[in-house]
Amino acid sequence: MGNTEKENMLRNIPSVDSILQWPELQKHIETLQQSYITRIIRDKIEEFRNRIIAGEHFDLDFLKNSILCEFKDLVRPYFRRAVNALGIVLHTGLGRAPYSLGVAEAVRDASIGYSQLQIDEQGRRSDRYKKISRILTIITGAEGAVIVNNNAGATLLILSELAQGKEVIVSRSQLIEIGGAFRIPEIMEQSGAVLREVGTTNRTHLRNYEDAINENTGALLRVHQSNYKIIGFTKEVPLDELVALGRKHTLPVIDDLGSGALIDFSKYGLPNEPTVQESIKTGADIACFSGDKLIGGPQCGIIIGKKRYIDRIKKNPLTRALRCDKMTNEALEITLQLFLHKEEILLKNHGVMKLLLRPIDDIKRHAGKCARMLKKDFSEKLEISLQKDVSQIGGGSLSTEELPTFVIAVKPKNGSLAELARALRTVDVPVYGRVAEEAILLDFRTVLNGEEQFIVQAFKEILS
Ligand SMILES: *Cc1c(COP(=O)(O)O)cnc(C)c1O
Repeated sequence: MGNTEKENMLRNIPSVDSILQWPELQKHIETLQQSYITRIIRDKIEEFRNRIIAGEHFDLDFLKNSILCEFKDLVRPYFRRAVNALGIVLHTGLGRAPYSLGVAEAVRDASIGYSQLQIDEQGRRSDRYKKISRILTIITGAEGAVIVNNNAGATLLILSELAQGKEVIVSRSQLIEIGGAFRIPEIMEQSGAVLREVGTTNRTHLRNYEDAINENTGALLRVHQSNYKIIGFTKEVPLDELVALGRKHTLPVIDDLGSGALIDFSKYGLPNEPTVQESIKTGADIACFSGDKLIGGPQCGIIIGKKRYIDRIKKNPLTRALRCDKMTNEALEITLQLFLHKEEILLKNHGVMKLLLRPIDDIKRHAGKCARMLKKDFSEKLEISLQKDVSQIGGGSLSTEELPTFVIAVKPKNGSLAELARALRTVDVPVYGRVAEEAILLDFRTVLNGEEQFIVQAFKEILS
């Protein structure tokens, strides 16, 4: 593009005043603050000036559309409901766990007005951890519990309270990184504890821990290898041996369980995941895990363990800094109450368990129904077929296992696959599918009942 052409394009960018006259903007002009409207338009103009200077070429319709979209996006919720057709049951990008039956209603009620978050029947300020702690101690056998913002916060808090300025011994095989910059060495540093690595990547022996213990040791830490596996010539020290070693040297043993299985998954043909109850029974002094992985609740970090440690943790100022609000407390309470019930009741009502245990025939029937709906409306524009595939559990839970599933493979007869996939993510109820080489794969393990309507609607919005 020549310089004069650029200058012409720059000159053709409409002024703020003329944009303010666009009829499509009038509904925003009536409701939004004038100064913010001007700011939004100015930012857009600036963006387009820079794009022209950088050599981009576009027409005025494109610019207009972009400005109108900016207004639309600003006033519509981004964190709105979306369809997870990725087949990853616990997807951090899609908000991890779909809540269980009754949770959304309870959260709505607790948030629309006031809640009894931290008050007792005498009207006095009370312990906000009391109720959840009561349920957790019954379910897990621990002496006490406290919850914080997430499991990363839980780890930080525990290390800070129990081991600040002291060494914490961890096996080299457990120095994990979980997505989003949660890395054990960095959390350790933030907490003020000193990382003392022992063993090798594949093999760590009890004597390695024992040899590292000195007068400045603060704790022994075990971290669950959530999102990876070391296979082959490996050795890890089982928790009971770490507990015995901790007792011998009066050192607390901390168990970061990550996904926090409250039931035995192997009973249902799912991969074995260490349970919270086992950890407590084996004698871990403190265990921590996420509320929004296998528990299927809201984002939070759950800390359970010996009363004397929980009491200390509750008094730590970080607990106040990381505390959860009424919505999180209510969502977690209702989710945990499900675990008080008989397992058949739990399985019927638990959002995550239902997806993990979804029978393959049910997935096939659901995907088949949606495929027929799509074929009826869009067979001129799309190639649609039902295929067998595999889903992942995700969220660093049940490690790297895969589950059988059915997908609808959608291929546009014209136009690009990537563009169609992108368009599906921008409609009113966005649909996230796997973009494979040949087609977009909509994995029905994680598509909830009724959501096939949103998928059909999404294609309608895009193709018509
Ligand atoms: C997922 C995970 C974390 C981080 O938990 P968040 O709730 O995402 O903060 C920490 N440790 C382990 C072992 C995990 O699996």
